[in-house]
Amino acid sequence: MNSERSVSPANGVSFPWMPTALKELESAGLKRSRRRVTPHADGTCEIDGHLLKNYASNDYLGLAHDPRVIRSARTAMENAGAGARASALICGRTDWHVLLEEKLCEFERAEAAILFPSGYAANLGVVSALTNEQDLILSDELNHASLIDGCRLSRAEVAVYPHNDMNALRAKLENASGYRQRLIVTDGLFSMDGDVASLNEICDLCDRYDTALVVDEAHGTGVMGIHGRGAAEWMEVEDRVAVRIGTLSKAIGSQGGFVTGSHQLIDWLWNKARTQIFSTSLTPAACAASMTAIEIIQNEPQRREQLLTAAHRFRKQLRAAGIPYCENAVGPIIPIILNDPFRAVQIAAELEHYGFLVGAIRPPSVPEGTSRLRIALSFAQADKVNDQLADLLGELIHNRGLRKTGTPKPR
Ligand SMILES: *Cc1c(COP(=O)(O)O)cnc(C)c1O
Repeated sequence: MNSERSVSPANGVSFPWMPTALKELESAGLKRSRRRVTPHADGTCEIDGHLLKNYASNDYLGLAHDPRVIRSARTAMENAGAGARASALICGRTDWHVLLEEKLCEFERAEAAILFPSGYAANLGVVSALTNEQDLILSDELNHASLIDGCRLSRAEVAVYPHNDMNALRAKLENASGYRQRLIVTDGLFSMDGDVASLNEICDLCDRYDTALVVDEAHGTGVMGIHGRGAAEWMEVEDRVAVRIGTLSKAIGSQGGFVTGSHQLIDWLWNKARTQIFSTSLTPAACAASMTAIEIIQNEPQRREQLLTAAHRFRKQLRAAGIPYCENAVGPIIPIILNDPFRAVQIAAELEHYGFLVGAIRPPSVPEGTSRLRIALSFAQADKVNDQLADLLGELIHNRGLRKTGTPKPR
C-alpha cells in the first residue's frame, strides 16, 4: 500500500469510549484480527506468504473455483455488465436473475423463489416481513445471528428455547395463546455445532399447535439430503416446511441469498421484505455462477457423498485420537470445543504453523465459554490430508509443548 497517500482530517476524530472498549475485547481474548488471504483452486490458500490447507472455508463442494462456474460468471458479466444497476423491482432483475429463480424452483421443487443480496439479508427480510407485534417467534438459542437480528427487527415477542430441546419448545407452545400467529425459526444444519435441528419433532409440534416453520438451510444446501436440498430433505420433512431460506455463498460457492416457498409467500416477500426491496439486486455474474453450481450439485452427487464419507472418517479418527468433538455433528462441520478463547486461538495458530487453516470461533459467534475450533471439511481436501489434520489435532490438544518437542513435521 502507498504509505504516502493522504488521509482525510476527519479520520483523526476519535470516539472517547473506544480505546477502553477495544482494550477490553483484547484482554478477554475476543478482539478480532483481519488478514489478507489469497485463495487457490485446490482447496489451499496463502496467508502472509504461507501456503495453508483451508479448513475454514464454507466452500464445501469446491465449487467457488470450478472452471464451469467461472466460465458462466464471465459470460454473464460480459453480456450484462458488472453490476445489476438497481434493485430487482426497479430494473435490476435481469434474465440471469429469472433463470436462477427458475433453477431454484426446480432444484427445491418449490412453487416460487426470490433472491436476496445475501443469506443474512434473506433471514432479516423474511422474519421481519412475516411477523408483527401480535406474533410470537420461537427461536433456537443457537440460531445464526441473522435469524436473531430478524427476530429483533420484527417487533414480535421472541421466545428463545434451549438448543434442540423439544420439551422446552412444546412447553412454550402450550402456553402461547392469544397471538395472531406463532412462528418457529431454526437453522437446518447448525453453523457452529454441525448438528441438525430435530425437524421431525418440530414439524409435529407445528401441526399440533398450528405453527408455521422457517428453516435456514445455509449450511445444508448442496450438502445434506439425497439430492442436496438440505437438512429438511435429509430429515424427510421437506413437504412440511413452509419457508426455506438458503444462501448461494456456501456450498453453491458464489454470493447471495434465496427463499423458496408458495406463490403466495414469495409474492408477499416481493412486497414486504425490505432487505430485498431496498437493496441492489445480485450481480448477473453471481446469478450465473450460482445456476451452474446448482446444476453441478444436481449432476454430481458424488461430491456430497464423498464429503459426508470423509466427514464420517474424520470423526472416527478424532474419536480414535481421544479428541472431544461435538458428538451430534453429522455433516462437514466438525467443532472441537476448547472453552477458553485464548486456547482456541493458540491451537489455531499452532495448526497454521503446520500448514492448516482452521477457524477459531469465539463469542459472540458462539455462547460464552464454548470457544472452539471449527473444522469445515471440503470436497477439495483429500482423505490423506484430513488424516494428517486429525493426527496433528491429537498431538496439539493432548500435548501443548508440541512446538518444542516437534513431533509432526513443520511445513
Ligand atoms: C452464513 C450464514 C448465513 C448468512 O449467509 P450469507 O449469504 O453469508 O449472508 C445465514 N444463516 C446461517 C446459518 C449461516 O451460516
